[in-house]
Amino acid sequence: MHLVMIGGSDAGISAALRARELDPAADVTVVLEDAYPNFSICGIPYYVSGEVTHWRNLAHRTLADLEAAGMRLRLETIARRIDVPGRKLLVTSVEGGEELLGYDKLVIGTGAVPVRPPITGLSGPDALGPADGVHLLHSMGDTFAVMRTLEQAALASAVIVGAGYIGLEMADALTVRGLRVTQMEQLGEVLPTVDPQLGALVHAELASHGVEVLTGTTVQAISTAPSGGSGRLQVQAAAADGTAVTRTADMVLVVVGVRPETALAADAGATLGSKRAIAVDPMMRTGLPDIYAAGDCVITHHRLLGQTYLPLGTTAHKQGRIAGENALGGNRQFAGSLGTQVVKIFDQAAARTGLRDHEAAAAGFDPVTVESAADDHKAYYPGSHRITIRVTGDRATGRLLGMQLFGHKNAEIAKRTDIAATAIYHGMTVDAVSDLDLSYTPPLGSPWDAVQMAAQAWVRETRPR
Ligand SMILES: Cc1cc2nc3c(=O)[nH]c(=O)nc-3n(C[C@H](O)[C@H](O)[C@H](O)COP(=O)(O)OP(=O)(O)OC[C@H]3O[C@@H](n4cnc5c(N)ncnc54)[C@H](O)[C@@H]3O)c2cc1C
Repeated sequence: MHLVMIGGSDAGISAALRARELDPAADVTVVLEDAYPNFSICGIPYYVSGEVTHWRNLAHRTLADLEAAGMRLRLETIARRIDVPGRKLLVTSVEGGEELLGYDKLVIGTGAVPVRPPITGLSGPDALGPADGVHLLHSMGDTFAVMRTLEQAALASAVIVGAGYIGLEMADALTVRGLRVTQMEQLGEVLPTVDPQLGALVHAELASHGVEVLTGTTVQAISTAPSGGSGRLQVQAAAADGTAVTRTADMVLVVVGVRPETALAADAGATLGSKRAIAVDPMMRTGLPDIYAAGDCVITHHRLLGQTYLPLGTTAHKQGRIAGENALGGNRQFAGSLGTQVVKIFDQAAARTGLRDHEAAAAGFDPVTVESAADDHKAYYPGSHRITIRVTGDRATGRLLGMQLFGHKNAEIAKRTDIAATAIYHGMTVDAVSDLDLSYTPPLGSPWDAVQMAAQAWVRETRPR
């Protein structure tokens, strides 16, 4: 049985590792475009900031580790075409040589590529690029280009276009490196994946660390700045009221989201779904014979929403593992995502799981969201932090639908969000969260955990009077 995985990141490598784990005799080949298999691109901001001291440290596993696990890696090899009936994959090597790789089962893990928004100066024959200090960020190659720019002498300022989680992590990273950062976001608040009330707290954290945050600001053009100014690039934007906004900077980073990389699968006849991601069933089957797909290139089965597109590393790992198992004849199903995510912004963290009010309403629930605050541990023990928590539940059934948290990075924001994720996964009511037997000692918690206090606030607020 020859298994071929296309893509050497979270999905492709997870599939290969799982296949080799289940069947040490399985013949597994991973084909990847670059030379960096199994790198944690989620860690890129921390290499850029200098907190991770060498790019090699971002590897989940080294090439030697992967080879020791029994897979064959074809680095710098691009998958060009899938011959579905013939079960062959046409690949080209970096030297340009073509080869047909036969497979019994194929796993497509081609991931996502950064969106290039319609900003003048970003596309076309005269587009500015890394050599000019204008960057997109997704791969290790993009990271090296960013580092080459950053290592130039006298680099003092950056404009970041986009204030999603990657934009925020990069604002943190570039500030830590000593750059003056301006962040431009066209929506009304930063981190639009959480409610604006929490986005405003993130905004305040950015501002308190010297980041100039311009929300409601749509970037229209990036160009070379007139000489004699304070930066080599000029960014022109429009504020919500139409006022022109101009900033100069030495570097511009455009991080406005990703789109699934699906050309190969679509050309082979795969059906596309939400956001033109590859349609897969919960077993990660594409509908094409013997072809599975996983990770950022596929639609996401969501436990509360049905099908959506939600590219995340956690999901790519799980789906890849399932695709690898099923390619070997297994029968495992992806249980569905809840979109659980967390981001650190300087000294604070913001997280969410499940649905926000408007998402729940669109999915047919009768949502109520209640905000409250609680300490991460007993306030009499030094170092306690206040956590802001927004609980969304269904008024009709009392079911917990979502939770959003904001608080100090040491306040266990991620793990508290994971309590909520676990409760939502199991269909618990908000009220039942108070029944969970959670741990307590004054330096680390309270007899009622902050999540339980937030659940109680929701129940108080929504009970019939
Ligand atoms: C800066 C940053 C921070 C992030 N932080 C987080 C985080 O904190 N938490 C989280 O959950 N997620 C995070 N993510 C998202 C996460 O990294 C992705 O969801 C995850 O990497 C997706 O994995 P993937 O294998 O599906 O795709 P990708 O990582 O996109 O990898 C696709 C692979 O396929 C290869 N490929 C594509 N086409 C071909 C072809 N034709 N032939 C050969 N090879 C091909 C590519 O070279 C690459 O190796 C972050 C992403 C970035 C960029």
